[in-house]
Amino acid sequence: MRTASEILAPAGNLEKLKVAVLYGADAVYIGGQKYGLREASENFTYDEIREGVEFAHQHQSKVFVVLNGFLHDSDLETLPEFLSFLENVGVDAVIVSDLGVIATVRKFSNLEIHLSTQASCLNVEAAKFWKDQGVKRVVLGREVSIPEAALIKRESGLEVELFIHGSMCMAYSGNCVISNYTQGRDSNRGGCAHSCRFGYEIELNDDQKKISAYFMSSKDLEGIRLIPDFVEANIDSLKVEGRMKSAHYAGTVSKVYREAMDFYIEHGHLLTDKIYEWEKELRKISHREYTQASLLTPAGADSIYDEREHEDKEYQVVGVVQETVPGEFCLIEVRAAFCPGDTLELMPWKGDCVDKELDFVRDFADRPVPKSRPGTLVKIPWMQGAEPYNLIRRKCP
Ligand code: SF4
Repeated sequence: MRTASEILAPAGNLEKLKVAVLYGADAVYIGGQKYGLREASENFTYDEIREGVEFAHQHQSKVFVVLNGFLHDSDLETLPEFLSFLENVGVDAVIVSDLGVIATVRKFSNLEIHLSTQASCLNVEAAKFWKDQGVKRVVLGREVSIPEAALIKRESGLEVELFIHGSMCMAYSGNCVISNYTQGRDSNRGGCAHSCRFGYEIELNDDQKKISAYFMSSKDLEGIRLIPDFVEANIDSLKVEGRMKSAHYAGTVSKVYREAMDFYIEHGHLLTDKIYEWEKELRKISHREYTQASLLTPAGADSIYDEREHEDKEYQVVGVVQETVPGEFCLIEVRAAFCPGDTLELMPWKGDCVDKELDFVRDFADRPVPKSRPGTLVKIPWMQGAEPYNLIRRKCP
């Protein structure tokens, strides 16, 4: 009997957490206001962490909190208080890189510890070392293949988590200071500016020739066709990168990987036309060209993406369902303007998306709205299967 691997989605704020959980993530990872590595993501207040944990647990999902910055002594002073809060609200684990943070977590709490990919655990001996430090799970470096991850799990007895989707880091996950020198932003303290995506000019000494290239910019990871390999290798958790990405991204990756995982567990294969649909869905969210990177063999030149920062995005979220009156209307919180006559697409929790041409767009008092404004609430025609938090999107021109 096969056991499904956990689908672990990123959640940069409370809305993304709810969206990821409702679209099928078994677990989400979030950051508090300090100690994590994503200064630019909105991050959770204490109240939001409490609400997020309650919500996830009501839906049988888990919440992991990142504490994976490399901290100085002054940063550690207030950590015990934060740990005690996390333990009290029932957070399921903390994700840690720094040995000092691990020691502090063990001294002041009984929180489960997951080793961040930031610690670059790539081999069995390293995993055993971290196990001796009290770590329960290792988030392996993105340089590790699925067979290597299986060996690390078998030999160390630890749970293993491996990235299956998202942006890549050209350094050994985060062990990089390009961003510090080019932008004055420290990747190891949450400030990575993705400087590896920039174009760089190289001067060739011999003939003074200069070339300009994006030689450090990676394609994005996509491992959907390797779900059978992950499951058969008993990889405990499949991680999706992207706490700074949108609710559309969090919802889509959760839905697609959930459906593919469930299909594989039920049928024992992914030989289905649905694979094309799932891949199509993954192209609707913002992404660079996809690669399987090092999941089977070490990433090589074909993983390089030779365009700066450019991301493709086929669809744009224009609203989030707030309420529905079946047969009559959906109440939508508008994220991007749309008009009567536009065709929008509902993304249900499971199964195919539903297209609808809008016969009307109305405000609360049922007055016609010629063009909706972001941040407002409007009524649009009811769409079969719509539920609160479903995303409504539109094909980009
Ligand atoms: S600049 Fe690039 S290589 Fe460096 S930490 Fe950021 S994503 Fe990784």
